[in-house]
Amino acid sequence: MAERAPPLIVGAGPAGIRAAMTLVAAGLRPIVIDEGYACGGQIYRQPLSPDGRDAQARYGSEAAKATRLQRDFAALGAQVDYRPNTLLWNLRDASADSLRDGVSQRILHDGLILATGATDRVLPLPGWTLPGVFTLGGAQIALKAQGCAIGKRVVFAGSGPLLYLVAWQYMKAGVEVAAVLDAAPLSAKLHLLRALPLAPDIVLRGLRMAAELALHGTQVQLGVSGLRIEGEGRVARIVYQTGGRRHAIACDGIGYGLNLRSETQAADLAGCAFRFDPRDRAHLPVRDSSGRSSVAGVYLAGDGARIAGADAAELAGERAALALLEDRGLPHAPARAASLERRLVRIGRLRDALEAAFPFPAHWGADIADDTLLCRCEDISAGDARRAIGHFSLTDVNRLKAVTRIGMGRCQGRMCGAAAAELLAAQTGRDIGAVGRLRAQAPIKPIPLAMSLSVDERQHDPAH
Ligand SMILES: Cc1cc2nc3c(=O)[nH]c(=O)nc-3n(C[C@H](O)[C@H](O)[C@H](O)COP(=O)(O)OP(=O)(O)OC[C@H]3O[C@@H](n4cnc5c(N)ncnc54)[C@H](O)[C@@H]3O)c2cc1C
Repeated sequence: MAERAPPLIVGAGPAGIRAAMTLVAAGLRPIVIDEGYACGGQIYRQPLSPDGRDAQARYGSEAAKATRLQRDFAALGAQVDYRPNTLLWNLRDASADSLRDGVSQRILHDGLILATGATDRVLPLPGWTLPGVFTLGGAQIALKAQGCAIGKRVVFAGSGPLLYLVAWQYMKAGVEVAAVLDAAPLSAKLHLLRALPLAPDIVLRGLRMAAELALHGTQVQLGVSGLRIEGEGRVARIVYQTGGRRHAIACDGIGYGLNLRSETQAADLAGCAFRFDPRDRAHLPVRDSSGRSSVAGVYLAGDGARIAGADAAELAGERAALALLEDRGLPHAPARAASLERRLVRIGRLRDALEAAFPFPAHWGADIADDTLLCRCEDISAGDARRAIGHFSLTDVNRLKAVTRIGMGRCQGRMCGAAAAELLAAQTGRDIGAVGRLRAQAPIKPIPLAMSLSVDERQHDPAH
């Protein structure tokens, strides 16, 4: 009987690592690919090179979890075929195209776990392309992985738990944090009372961070609107409104973002069915409580399937791996699977409350000024998009893409897609869920035209 190909896991964050550990414990040798240079994913990102800081300094309250996860993955050694610096850029039936060091390799697999995580959700605002403006995640990566700050006097703006966390991490690193500008109104924060009994430690930690920032002299402002970034050639100040009054704060660095957005392109290429999720304001791949997608043999885990945080990602990674084992006819610990699902439901309730405390500024699509750059890859302004929507009576975001080229550039819609959909919904008076989603195309991310092709048919050879 022919030997079965190994399972493939995409992503070595909390979800992918737990999935790999579960498969290894069952006697399989999964392939794990990740475009990052080291395991850990976004939250437990490791430094590019030793920078003298220990885990406590780098990960704060999450140091113990980060250390444990990275150590557990390293302990797998040769039991897992781990390929860092490797991008998944295409999926076909039972094979994946990966890219490393300019060489594209086809990986044959039997079972695919997508644990691709999330990225910042960015909605353009005037001045957002000025040098000195980073996403919240980008600002954090500079600190976590490179040990440097995005400016000397920094403002963080937008919404979401990451807003306060990154600001607090900068403050702890000794950077002057001039302000935290939260788009969410005070009334939304009442939802934290719902979250409190579910995870008092998390809620109290967040409140403590906000309090420490304020005590440290950081201006913490809720309910801001009308954000714009100004400066000649680079960031000089951020302007905003509260209660009809205009304010300006001088700064040389800005971290900006509105919660997170699931990385769903791989699930799209795998042929998974999608459904609109009102909480995340995004079309997400459909999965059941075990992580099975609508496509046999394709499993979804972690923030790439729906934003739920790192602890949930670990649980979901393990749960998806158990589903894969069951589908392969291997022992699959049903009692453990049921316990994982119960814990995921509980975290899901917590996440709902947290998301409600940081609501999306639904008026943004209508408010954005015509001269604001919407798609920076293709140099398309909000006004260009509005004219195209009106002229061609567009109602679907893919038609908007076809007509304007929004989403056809380097980011393939990963940055501008959500904004384009919001703008289209606002202008046509349709619900955001009704304007469709940008369909993913291979390559998911830019690949070199001159790459070498190497078709690897021997992946299931354990000696390889
Ligand atoms: C920038 C950023 C910073 C964050 N910081 C924090 C924080 O400080 N604290 C906190 O509680 N939460 C944070 N979060 C949220 C947290 O990272 C997630 O909840 C958690 O990491 C989810 O784990 P995961 O395994 O699902 O995904 P991730 O940890 O995101 O891991 C996904 C992995 O998949 C890889 N990947 C994705 N696509 C491909 C591809 N096509 N080919 C190859 N590899 C691919 C990525 O390189 C990544 O390593 C952050 C999120 C982001 C986006």
